[in-house]
Amino acid sequence: RIARAQGRRLVHCGEITAQMRNDTLSVERDLRRALQQKEFHLVYQPQMDLRLGRVVGVEALLRWRHPERGIVSPVEFIPILEESGMIDAVGAWVLDEACSQARHWELAGTPLRVGINLSPRQFHDTGLFDSIITATRKWGVAPKHIELEITESLAMQDPSRAIELLARLRGMGYKIAIDDFGIGYSSLEYLLRFPLDTIKVDRAFVRNVTESRADRAIVRAITVIAQTIGISTIAEGIETLRQCDFIEALGVNEIQGYLIGKPMSPADIERLITTFVRPGKGN
Ligand code: C2E
Ligand code: MG
Ligand code: MG
Ligand code: MG
Repeated sequence: RIARAQGRRLVHCGEITAQMRNDTLSVERDLRRALQQKEFHLVYQPQMDLRLGRVVGVEALLRWRHPERGIVSPVEFIPILEESGMIDAVGAWVLDEACSQARHWELAGTPLRVGINLSPRQFHDTGLFDSIITATRKWGVAPKHIELEITESLAMQDPSRAIELLARLRGMGYKIAIDDFGIGYSSLEYLLRFPLDTIKVDRAFVRNVTESRADRAIVRAITVIAQTIGISTIAEGIETLRQCDFIEALGVNEIQGYLIGKPMSPADIERLITTFVRPGKGN
């Protein structure tokens, strides 16, 4: 994502550039309208606990229903929201909407942990802490049902500030997850100083887990460390039963991916949990 955003800045000659600039500007204009016109909505992707065989959480994922272009992927417009500064307003909307939904599930007697993505730019916004508290209190949702997903790069940009902010939130009962976790640029030692509840293992290590010894070793190393420090793991992007079996054997706690369900509407989540049968295991 960052590479793409940089790529956009790096090309700067000829008509293609003018066209690209125009595109970005028109998308920016469209995005400004989108919030007022209620063109955003959230979809929710289920997360299954492997030991319980139950859906215990969901991740809220942003969608934009563009009047002409149809549903636009967040991969396309989140970088633009970030660069233009609109991410703070849209991020606050996401928090409000996701908290409202989490409260709805609490009241229905089917509480689900709801994961919310925070972007690096939002993290620099000093109002982020307030936005989180405001949305949670407004709806009266229990902080333990809100899981804030941050990325490794975000956490490492200003580690001491990140640690302080996350520790405060965690102290209030919010869950903190590190998203797209690999064995990336940050030193593992540093990462272990972060106040975390969950590591989300990047889809990149899941994709070839059945064939690649190296990927299995990486996932195993992550689960061993997680178990040692008492935090939970979620594997992202599980599409097949075979991947699920391997991942379970490596000691991962939860899975998220098309095998369990694609991102879907709240009504579809409710249908899924009432009729849910764990895939495989003789089913
Ligand atoms: P992410 O947080 O890592 O979310 C997981 C992405 O993987 C989602 O893409 C999801 O649809 C996709 N995915 C899940 N399971 C599978 C699978 O089994 N196979 C495959 N091929 N893909 C799977 P999506 O919804 O397009 O979101 C992309 C990214 O956009 C997210 O990655 C997140 O970084 C960002 N994003 C989404 N919603 C928000 C938001 O509300 N705020 C912020 N700041 N970022 C968001
Ligand atoms: Mg995420
Ligand atoms: Mg992720
Ligand atoms: Mg990802």
